[in-house]
Formats: sequence, structure tokens, C-alpha cells
Amino acid sequence: NKSINLKKRPVGTPTLSDFEFVESDVNPSISDGQLLLEAKYISVDPYLRGRMSDAKSYVPPFKLDEPISSGVVAEVIETKNDKFKKGDFVSGLLQWKEKQISTGEGLQKIDKSKAPLSAYLGIVGMTGLTAFLGLHEIGKPKKGETLVVSGAAGAVGSVVGQIGKILGLNVIGIAGTDEKIDMLKSEFGFDHGINYKTTKDMKAAIKEAAPNGVDIYFDNVGGPISDAVLFNINQFARIIICGAISVYNKTEIPMAVAVQPFLVKNSALMQGFIVSNYADKFPVAMKQLATWLGEGKLKYKETVVEGFENTPQAFLDMMDGKNKGKMIVKV
Ligand code: NDP
Repeated sequence: NKSINLKKRPVGTPTLSDFEFVESDVNPSISDGQLLLEAKYISVDPYLRGRMSDAKSYVPPFKLDEPISSGVVAEVIETKNDKFKKGDFVSGLLQWKEKQISTGEGLQKIDKSKAPLSAYLGIVGMTGLTAFLGLHEIGKPKKGETLVVSGAAGAVGSVVGQIGKILGLNVIGIAGTDEKIDMLKSEFGFDHGINYKTTKDMKAAIKEAAPNGVDIYFDNVGGPISDAVLFNINQFARIIICGAISVYNKTEIPMAVAVQPFLVKNSALMQGFIVSNYADKFPVAMKQLATWLGEGKLKYKETVVEGFENTPQAFLDMMDGKNKGKMIVKV
């Protein structure tokens, strides 16, 4: 029974040597009230990079020489807890371990007849909720407005853009390869796409794609890409700061270009967003996401990596942009 521990706190870009495979409790045995879970799908997410550092944040850092944890879909393979039966599937924040014991606390039972198991880590899980709630609660979208999404081809961004289209917005996506830009337009219905790696003047490219200016900016990346968007905002623009992946591996965070004048002169709102602060809205958001999925208005993409032993590499690859849609490990 293997687990994946954090061996070292990465400095800069993480590498495989920051992780360690450890053999532990070969036949874990459960007591009254407990369950034995077998991991089926593991989510690798950008926010895990923050937890690998010991800087203070909204979630505590991982401990060294202990298993990493993230969203996991698991099967109940043994149970001494009345609330769960053998063969149930659950999702929750669990350890990177092939098998683990749980009390059942914090686990949600999931129904594989309603959505594929892996989707509970993405479109009908944390990243779908982030897209829906960030856009609605802070973005306050109105039909006809222009929305820019960065990290547009990833798990959160690809859903933000599609919801924007359902709501009648003009949607511009920013991503890192031409293949991703084609996918945004041909599969997800984005109106425009900009490859930030090959575009020399991002400020001008955004102006060209959004001649009437930007009303909503859903920011997943931060850094110079975001500065370029902010140069193009409209009066009363709303800026959702969902993530800043462009700086997660930086040992020194660069100073931003002075965007404050653009916020002031446009009376714009910029607000940080953490999905867990909106837990009371999860049921309504989840219902709408499931309805749109059922109606075929919302699509999702996954990049699935096979094998528990490839989990650290899948995390590194996601940070490096190798994923389209949600990066998932099939155990
Ligand atoms: P993604 O599926 O979008 O994967 C990460 C993507 O980031 C990569 O595919 C890559 O795509 C892009 N990327 C990597 N480095 C850079 C860079 N230097 N500049 C620009 N883009 C880069 O991940 P998620 O959808 O899970 O997460 C997206 C963002 O949302 C993250 O910042 C994450 O922290 C945040 N988030 C926040 C939550 C909250 O509650 N606040 C909840 C969930 C996610 P490319 O090829 O385009 O570079």
C-alpha cells in the first residue's frame, strides 16, 4: 500500500525529487465507525503548489514526510460505518495513498449513474463550482458584455468561458498553445482566443479582440497577462482574482505594472475569490451545472494520466500547461 509523501519543500519549480513513494500499512484494518477506501481518481491542482511551501495561506501547508492530499474519488472496499456500504463511491479531500482508512467525515457519496466518477473532481466538483460561483458572485455577468478569461483552456477557465457563452457574453480566452486556442473556439464556442506565448503585444491583442473594452476579467494567472487585460477594462469592470499560477513557482514575486490608475478611473471592482467561502451556494450551482451538462450546453475535457505512480509527474505537467481541461490521475 503506497503513499506519496512530500519529501522536500520545492524552491521554484517543483521536481520529482520533492516527492517520495513510501510503503505503509500493507493491510490496513478498520475499527468500528471506520471505512477502508481505495483511491480511483486523484485531482492534481495548482493550489497544491502553495501547500508545498510553508508560507501562511488559507489552507495549512503539507507536512514534510507525510502524504500529500487533494480531491480524490474512492471506492468503499470495507466498512464498519452504517452510513456507507461496500461499493459506494465517495469524493473528498483525501491522501495520496492507494488505500486509506477514513471515519467518513467530510466525504460526499457520489452517483456514477449521474456523471462519470472523474467528473466529480472537475465539472461537477471543485473546479466547476469555482467557475460558476466566481463568475456569478463577483463577475455579475450581463448579456452582451465582454468577458476575458486567462488560463482559459484549463479546468476552471474552459468552464468560465462556456458559461459566459450560455449567458450571452462576448468571450475571449487566453491560453498557452495554438492547439488550445483552436479548442477554445471550435469545441467550447469562445469568440476569440489569444496565445500569450506567441503574442508580442498582449495589450494590443486584447484591444483588437475586445474593441469595446473588457467588462469582466476572470483571472487565473496574474502577472503581465493580467496587466495587459487591465489596460483594457471598461467603466465598472469586475475583476475576479481566482488564481495567479504565473507566480506560484516564483521565488520573488515581480512587482505589478501600476494598474491602480485603471481601476480608479474606471471605478472597477477587483476581488479575490476562494470557492470554499461560497459553500452555501454549492447546491444551486451544482444543480445548474448538471442541468447544462445534461442539455449539452456545457462540455468538459479531461487529461487523464494512468497510474498512481504517475501522480507527481501529472502535477508537474499540469503546472507546465500539458493539460487540456481538468488534469486527473486514474489510479
Ligand atoms: P488548469 O487546469 O488551468 O491548469 C493550469 C494551467 O495554467 C496550465 O494548463 C497552463 O496552461 C496554465 N499556466 C501555467 N503556467 C502559466 C503561466 N506562467 N502563465 C499563464 N498560464 C500558465 O488549473 P485549474 O483550472 O485547476 O486552476 C486554474 C487557476 O484557478 C489556478 O490559478 C488555481 O490556483 C485557481 N483556482 C482557484 C480556486 C479558488 O477557489 N480560488 C479553485 C480552483 C482553482 P497554458 O498552456 O495556458 O499556459
